[in-house]
Amino acid sequence: MTPIDRLGPVVEGVGASPGMVFGRAVVLDRGRATYPKTHVEEEATTSECRRLDHAVAASVQQLRRLKSRVGGTQFAEHTKILEAHELMLQDDLLIDGTKAQIRTERINAEWALQRTLNQIADFFSDLDDEYIRERATDVETVGERIMRNLTGEHFESLVELLTRVKEPSILVAERLTPADAVQLFDTNIVGFCIDEGTRTTHTAIAARSLEIPAVVGAPGLAEHIGTGDQIIVDGDAGEVVIRPSQSQIRKYTVRDEELRAVRDRLDQKRSPSAATSDGFEVVLSANIDLTPELDAAVARGAQGVGLFRTEYLFMNRTDLPSEDEQFEAYREVLERAAPYPATIRTVDIGGDKLELPKSTGRALNPFFGMRALRYCLKERSLFKTQIRALLRASAFGRLRLLLPFVTDVLEVRESKRIIREVEVELQGQGFSVSDSIELGVLIEIPAAALIADVLAREVDFFSVGTNDLIQYTLAAARDIAELRYLYHPLHPAVLRVLRLTSDAAHREGIRLCMCGEMAGEPLYTVVLLGYRFHELSMTPSSLPVVREIIRRSTLSEARALADKVQYFGTYAEVNGDVRRYMDAHFPDLIPLLSGD
Ligand code: PEP
Ligand code: MG
Repeated sequence: MTPIDRLGPVVEGVGASPGMVFGRAVVLDRGRATYPKTHVEEEATTSECRRLDHAVAASVQQLRRLKSRVGGTQFAEHTKILEAHELMLQDDLLIDGTKAQIRTERINAEWALQRTLNQIADFFSDLDDEYIRERATDVETVGERIMRNLTGEHFESLVELLTRVKEPSILVAERLTPADAVQLFDTNIVGFCIDEGTRTTHTAIAARSLEIPAVVGAPGLAEHIGTGDQIIVDGDAGEVVIRPSQSQIRKYTVRDEELRAVRDRLDQKRSPSAATSDGFEVVLSANIDLTPELDAAVARGAQGVGLFRTEYLFMNRTDLPSEDEQFEAYREVLERAAPYPATIRTVDIGGDKLELPKSTGRALNPFFGMRALRYCLKERSLFKTQIRALLRASAFGRLRLLLPFVTDVLEVRESKRIIREVEVELQGQGFSVSDSIELGVLIEIPAAALIADVLAREVDFFSVGTNDLIQYTLAAARDIAELRYLYHPLHPAVLRVLRLTSDAAHREGIRLCMCGEMAGEPLYTVVLLGYRFHELSMTPSSLPVVREIIRRSTLSEARALADKVQYFGTYAEVNGDVRRYMDAHFPDLIPLLSGD
């Protein structure tokens, strides 16, 4: 008897990282524990305090067990965080504070704990140092663990889940932060799908870097999937099939094989150089979040590193990386990129990376706040430590130093002054510093594009960061799925900003690069050629297809296309025209021309 072939539901989200995986789901439950709130009689306060003590003791036991499991694995770095969490469990503010609430307010332990946690969160939000304020999330995690032990609900952190999962599995969650996503490197998680996010959130970017198929921005998804459910994650189409039928498995397998065939064919072509048939050469380099990704970059023929996001060195830890630790990381990037250059960006704290606590008024809109270079120019010692590490490492390769989030030329001049000061200091201490470091700015705020001519006279190169440039030009946050209808690289306003930047760079004779995600979307390659970008930097898996498109294009046709669409009034018209052009010229690559 053949079983009835019932179709599994297909949930549509955003294809965040290409590829398809079939497998069992493992669900990360990050929901807040629900807890009872009751007033208690005076006699009961002692037993409430005892319940709290038991919950804290159970939490300590869980953390110690976890620490012994984690030691010696790739999560060893996490023992520091676990130790910090254990210390927080002995904190007077937390434990004695909660007991005082129980006694004076005559409330149950859960309610008292929540009140104390709120007070601690307020305390953190008033601190000046944003890096320390970030630690408020650790207190939240510790508090959640105690709360779950009080209510008897199960609590499992991501690290616990990752060490428990022994078979290749697909991670399902409502939300994953960029810091979570990088922890998936070299684990049994072979794909993930989450309720929140868009293609340009750093969680999605990290998935592409790790080459893990992923779907994001599928609200309600986690609610419908249980641990152990069979699912399919199609990271190209942005679909998740829950408990697929046999016919769905066949259909998705065929699609997977077709896409793999196209990608394999492109991967065979080994030569890294990319020039149009009329001789315009474009350097294709790689965006790197973690040093192990250099392997994929080298394998795919990257001509250097076009963006190394140093903020990942600052994640998943409770202290700041030392000068020596940073120096080692930068030296590795520079040495492995050689003979090509490596563009290393000073730390971009804020935005959707290293989030600031939600309780801070100042963090209501972190994208418009104290971020990246603004933060570094305020926290001078952190900035100088990084510049020292970078300049020391410059002796080991070809360093391009990139300043993020520039709004004003004075920020560039002040940074140059600090770089010069650090250089003199290092030379006085006997360190050698390369004399051919190039300095660049990220053009990712419209103000920077509008004064691109002024900035171009200060630096050696521009790198256009479209992920942010699009969100600020269109006032549509890059991490909000509902605004995807506005957030388009081909919006005429974005094209005009690109044109301004390109014209200024070419007029002043400086190098024009792009490291935003637009650079790695093959649908946009010909338009970007039309703007005469000297370098496009992207996630390594995009290199083969972008290279193929450039080789089969001419600069003159690309310029004609860019000039033509420049005058269209709407995104829909531009997109329609570009798509028609690309489909007609690259019919064999259509499955890879997803765009946004
Ligand atoms: C960008 O904004 O395009 C960029 C490359 O920087 P990030 O994505 O790290 O903000
Ligand atoms: Mg940016």
